[in-house]
Amino acid sequence: MNCSCGNSESFEKCCEPLLLGKATATSAEQLMRSRYSAYVHQKIDYLIETTHPSTRKLYRRKDIEKWAKESKWLKLEVLFSSENFVEFKAYYQDKIGKIHEHHEKSNFIFEGGKWFFE
Ligand SMILES: [Zn+2]
Repeated sequence: MNCSCGNSESFEKCCEPLLLGKATATSAEQLMRSRYSAYVHQKIDYLIETTHPSTRKLYRRKDIEKWAKESKWLKLEVLFSSENFVEFKAYYQDKIGKIHEHHEKSNFIFEGGKWFFE
């Protein structure tokens, strides 16, 4: 079975080691994919830890948790990625059953040996 991020690798080989802190992302796209999987698996701490300290205050834990838990995550589509940028669409169903397409262009920063969502 494919990983929750949509890769053909299994979750155990793809995103799980990152979510468990056993591995770190080696590219912006890998970090982005693992962050999507973190929403699927409700790893809120991972989402906070992988947000760069300079922008972390813009995101409230409560809001992240609510969005992660109240949504049924359907699919991730990576449209474009470069060294420090990923454009993607995440599809999810909200608690009243409406399907949403979340289109985002994200920047990433490599600092201290780790990738962060900016
Ligand atoms: Zn994955």
